[in-house]
Amino acid sequence: MSFLNLVGQPMPLINGQWVSSTTSFAVQNPANGTELAQVMAAHIHHVEAAVTAAQQAFLSWRQTTAQQRAAILLRWSALLLQHQAELAQLLSAEQGKSTAEADAELNYARSFIDWFAAQAQRLDGHIMPSLQHDRQLLTFYKPVGVVAAITPWNFPAAMVTRKLAPALAAGCTVVLKPSEFTPLTALALAALAQQAGLPDGVLNVIPTLDAEATGRYLCQSPLVRKITFTGSTQVGQWLMQHSAGQLQRLSLELGGNAPALVYGDADIAQALTAIMQAKFRNWGQACIAVNRVLVAASILPSVLAGFTQRMAQLHISQPLIHVKAAQRVHALVQDAIAKGARLECGGLATAPETAFYPPTLLSGVTSEMAIWQQEIFGPVLTVTAVDDEALLVPLANAVPAGLAAYAFTQSVKRSWQLMQQLDVGMLGLNEAAISNEVIPFGGIKASGFGREGSQRGLDDYVAACHVHWRTNID
Ligand code: ADP
Repeated sequence: MSFLNLVGQPMPLINGQWVSSTTSFAVQNPANGTELAQVMAAHIHHVEAAVTAAQQAFLSWRQTTAQQRAAILLRWSALLLQHQAELAQLLSAEQGKSTAEADAELNYARSFIDWFAAQAQRLDGHIMPSLQHDRQLLTFYKPVGVVAAITPWNFPAAMVTRKLAPALAAGCTVVLKPSEFTPLTALALAALAQQAGLPDGVLNVIPTLDAEATGRYLCQSPLVRKITFTGSTQVGQWLMQHSAGQLQRLSLELGGNAPALVYGDADIAQALTAIMQAKFRNWGQACIAVNRVLVAASILPSVLAGFTQRMAQLHISQPLIHVKAAQRVHALVQDAIAKGARLECGGLATAPETAFYPPTLLSGVTSEMAIWQQEIFGPVLTVTAVDDEALLVPLANAVPAGLAAYAFTQSVKRSWQLMQQLDVGMLGLNEAAISNEVIPFGGIKASGFGREGSQRGLDDYVAACHVHWRTNID
């Protein structure tokens, strides 16, 4: 297929060379199970070589000027744009989203490169007022060193650039471990970074099926100074435990379980349109997707009728990432129904044998159900109604995750209170499209820590260095 020209024979990229391996693994199209490519798998000796190359390259990369790094990043972004149609096909084939959604993701992915190319040039330090006339107190910011970036499959391009762009802009070098389900997009992005003039060893990519052994090596390496990870809370905790020995810096963007609070005074049509958008982007496979719609009982009938009508009109459909993911979603829905939830529309009578799962609406969902506690990661909306609106915030907060929340109300006073009271890192007020390069993306509680994007987005990749300078000038 033509789009595979971007990656050729997919294999690890180490120190500017595409290197072969004795084993490989298949990447499949989740829509039909067809094999797209065999990817040569990185073994531990490849991981070691990648880390060593990154450390070696760091010595010169950190000495480049911010303008030089920005110029390379901007060339990379321009190459992504030039190849966007092929990249969208590749991304769509290995991940399952439509080429239109893949195209939108690539715009989003490029936005991080452009943003951090600019931010690199604004990384200024400061001078503090001295306590003595012959001392100068300076602070400046240094790149932390080799960064291990571990990325998920749901946004195979954007999760890569959201980590690589700030790391490279700050002057760090990178070892990237993409998801085993979507390594092709990551390798294509790396090939374009090479074309853009990124020096050898500054970006290394190690596709592998053995995530745990790779993770262990990266956590235990004294050369790796930072791990940036997007994925499940469970793996985030594992990385934190295993990196304790080296005290590596961590950015962990972990699972969410976003509530959408719909108050009696909300513009219901606006709320439903926004929630549908936030739910069905990438077929629910997004960490800020709405999981739980919490509504005032007075408006429940119009909310359920509105969702049912909108879901019937959905013209898109995409597979989940694999058959097991569809079976997992099915099991969550069945558990909820067995515990008293009502199936308003969608669902399947028997466990799916493909990766497809239909848009599904459940009402009467309670906190005893697994679907309430877990991130659904599929096209299922759950609705819970309360008589007393004062209960909406405690219900929203009654889960371990704290990534995003959405609230719909016309009241300015309540909006202000919600900003203080909802235990999340991001809040959409009367709006659900909340993510872009300008905002600090990230969570609290079981959703992890660290922020990606925004004016603060370089912070996780630099360390403050204070200089206390005796000038000997009277
Ligand atoms: P998801 O449930 O969304 O697939 P995971 O947390 O399982 O999320 O995976 C996210 C990324 O983390 C993937 O690249 C996966 O290969 C990687 N991963 C999984 N387990 C480990 C581990 N023990 N060490 C390092 N990376 C891991």
